[in-house]
Amino acid sequence: MTTATATKYVFSFGDGKADGGATMKNELGGKGANLAEMTSIGLPVPAGFTISTGVCTYYYDNGETYPEQLRDDVAAALEKIEKAMGAKFGCTENPLLLSCRSGARESMPGMMDTVLNIGLNDTTVAALAKKSGNEQFAWDSYRRFVQMYGDVVLEMKTLDKKEIDPFEHLLEAKKEAEGVEFDSGLSAAGLKELVKEFKAAIKERTGNDFPDEPLDQLWGAIGAVFSSWMNDRAMVYRRQYGIPHEWGTAVNVQAMVFGNLSEDSASGVGLTRDCSLGDPGFRGDYLINAQGEDVVAGIRSTKRVEESLHDDMPEAFDRLNEIGKILEKHYKDVQDIEFTVQHGKVWMLQTRNAKRTGFAAVRIAVDLVNEGLIDPKEALNPRRIPADDLNQLLQPIFDPDAKAAADAEGRLLTKGINAGPGATYGKICFHAEDAEAQYNADNDVQLILVRRETSPEDLRGMQAAKGILTAFGGASSHAALVSRQMGKVCIVGATELDIDYQAGTMSVGDKTFNEGDYISIDGFTGEVFEGSVTTKPSEVLDVVIHKAGDPEKSETYKRYAQLMEWVDEHRTLNVRTNADSPDQAAEAIAFGAEGIGLCRTEHMFFHHVDEIREMILAETKEVRQKAIDKLLPYQRSDFEGLFRAMEGRPVTVRLLDPPLHEFLSERHLEEDPALAGQLAKMTGKSEEEIHRRVEGLHESNPMLGHRGCRLGIVYPEITAMQARAIMEAACAVKKEGIDVHPEIMIPLVGFLAEFKDQEKIVRAQAEAVMAETGQKVEYLVGTMIEVPRAAVCADQIATGAEFFSFGTNDLTQTALGISRDDYGGFIGYYREHDIVPNDPFQTIDFDGVGGLMKIGVEGGRSSRKDLKIGICGEHGGDPASVKFCHSIGLNYVSCSPFRVPIARLAAAQAAVSQG
Ligand code: ADP
Ligand code: MG
Ligand code: MG
Repeated sequence: MTTATATKYVFSFGDGKADGGATMKNELGGKGANLAEMTSIGLPVPAGFTISTGVCTYYYDNGETYPEQLRDDVAAALEKIEKAMGAKFGCTENPLLLSCRSGARESMPGMMDTVLNIGLNDTTVAALAKKSGNEQFAWDSYRRFVQMYGDVVLEMKTLDKKEIDPFEHLLEAKKEAEGVEFDSGLSAAGLKELVKEFKAAIKERTGNDFPDEPLDQLWGAIGAVFSSWMNDRAMVYRRQYGIPHEWGTAVNVQAMVFGNLSEDSASGVGLTRDCSLGDPGFRGDYLINAQGEDVVAGIRSTKRVEESLHDDMPEAFDRLNEIGKILEKHYKDVQDIEFTVQHGKVWMLQTRNAKRTGFAAVRIAVDLVNEGLIDPKEALNPRRIPADDLNQLLQPIFDPDAKAAADAEGRLLTKGINAGPGATYGKICFHAEDAEAQYNADNDVQLILVRRETSPEDLRGMQAAKGILTAFGGASSHAALVSRQMGKVCIVGATELDIDYQAGTMSVGDKTFNEGDYISIDGFTGEVFEGSVTTKPSEVLDVVIHKAGDPEKSETYKRYAQLMEWVDEHRTLNVRTNADSPDQAAEAIAFGAEGIGLCRTEHMFFHHVDEIREMILAETKEVRQKAIDKLLPYQRSDFEGLFRAMEGRPVTVRLLDPPLHEFLSERHLEEDPALAGQLAKMTGKSEEEIHRRVEGLHESNPMLGHRGCRLGIVYPEITAMQARAIMEAACAVKKEGIDVHPEIMIPLVGFLAEFKDQEKIVRAQAEAVMAETGQKVEYLVGTMIEVPRAAVCADQIATGAEFFSFGTNDLTQTALGISRDDYGGFIGYYREHDIVPNDPFQTIDFDGVGGLMKIGVEGGRSSRKDLKIGICGEHGGDPASVKFCHSIGLNYVSCSPFRVPIARLAAAQAAVSQG
């Protein structure tokens, strides 16, 4: 092996100078890079050095050995620490003690190991006692060291997981003997005995002597930290968070400072501002006369920096506040820090960008702009506000104290897939009709609709409920989809639930609940609780949707509005909504929607199911036409409402799409024994004929059956009626002086001929209606691109279609050959085993489905240069998918109303991160 140009493996920091810095996280890990950075900007950091992640890689590539030069480099760096701290490692008069700390590129809290007080033995402990004039402190440090070293390096803890830690055992016995409550209360003499007992326990359990030589101790600790990179916990954690095993950890060796030295010493952790709601001001937890691990371990109850540190240690309090400001100014973000106070002097041991909730993220980003630390563009950085987290501003949430109490009381029942964010509680209700009836009797009733799954007939019941909980289905099941559109709290796929409709019970494990019992659901986490957990409303929603709150008085709303102003300045992608009713449309506009990207006409049909059924049962054109004619006025008035609500914004209306048996099937006849009779009476047929006709509608694979434009092609009267209804509504609304831009969309087109067939019918109706009414309305006729053939033949289809809209739900099903109604059985396994990087029904499968979309965009625009292209699948509200849509040049995304703000933010983030 050639070592001609020596790689730098060891990076020193101390005395205001550092070899590394914050930009070197890859080599130094987060902790090491920031220790170096803090040193350079003049903050008080105990001197130390970082052994780079490269050594970790080397260690594992070379049979757990180190590069040759490392020993010399470490020795040299150690000398620098000694100089900076004015003490010597292993010295019998003035001993330097060290900590040895892990630190990867991304923080992996609690996954790897740290050893404190390295360098103590029977000789140096006496020197430390003498130097500090505090024998109890010296032996407390020694006791801690032997214990930590025994656990971490000598693997005392892992020998038998079930057995009580022998150290804790001995410690407890000693405390009992001395009659003290805390470790720190032990006498020097007792601690001295403990150290002996600990060492004996180590010898007994491992067969090895405790190493007395400080350098051996140090190298043992370094080896243990590198080894901890590959421990089970760390591997599992990395898999979960997608951190590559190749990255490795760095090792930080640093001079010890002592929070356990005296009553004017302390250890603590802090945040430069609150990270749950984002309130400004330093806050933290500390313990007087303690070492760092005590704060985290929670053995003693900590004190709050903002409450009492000012009285306990006024100078340290001021200094911490000052350091907090310096750090925020330097890092331009909220910091999460670890510190120690030694004889009143503050030492910094760690800093990193703090994790925060969506609430806090928005507040902090906006505040930092107003404080002049960052500009609006930086506020939009997805690292600061992950677009999805914006949800937290819109949804009611569980009161944090109430939730903690429910947890503590063991009321958590089960967990499902979090499908509709927010939190709510309510009475269990198993049937949509019951929910609706209860709601009609009392609009304030708190209900949770609990179903095995939901179907379109449950819509009104779902609307009546505060939340929806299903045992089956995935993130794009009917329940999930509708909940998102309605903005309902929803959990799906809670497979541990056993729902018995007959008995009217829901069971989990050995607990059984009846209709009317209270449960609570957290749509952020998928958790289901027994009983009711109190919620808190979202201020933003109050102002934006309910027009209840006072915008001037709600700081939360003002910050939201400010953020969204920056969002709209930066994004180029338009955001529309999927909405079928004027209410939804109005909500979406309040959230900033710029049009409707998908109005599903069948949702309207469910309100007029009798007429639809009559149409379905018709066997001649004449009878069918008669039934359809009855539907026309309903459709027209629905569209009028929608057009009015949209006030001139474009409205894309999709013609009838689902297979007809969604409106009438054998299941309907079974569930309602009177139905066949009613239908027979309505149509003048026999019940037998009804059954036969309904049987005839059965399809074995309806998703690929007689649906989409295939319906309109075989039954042109349906298309004609819908086109007429749309245009009559448009002309009527136009006449009222409201601008209208209908965009009529043909679903499931694969062949240009299919499009042309439908286009001809639509245009004939449009021209006729405009001639009849004397109104001129600009309208477009376009198509969904939702089968692979349409994407591949987009150049042909665009010769006819005036716009495209990617229906990525169907496109994903047809491109992947995976049914979204059936993928629940294996998608979990696929995700766990990294077979697919994402749930393809949540985030666009970029390579496959995305590849087809690119072909579609290119083909479409090759025939029609300025072809308007959007997306209306559920993916339109998924930030990663929005980013993709931006990158391939779509004009807009469309999503459910409650996701509009998220899509706007994601669109801005896509634009900002590209620029
Ligand atoms: P983790 O990654 O688990 O937080 P750290 O390496 O940050 O582990 O160490 C945990 C705690 O140990 C620190 O917060 C600090 O209180 C204490 N500690 C580490 N190094 C030192 C040191 N040189 N002097 C005093 N305390 C230290
Ligand atoms: Mg730490
Ligand atoms: Mg479709």
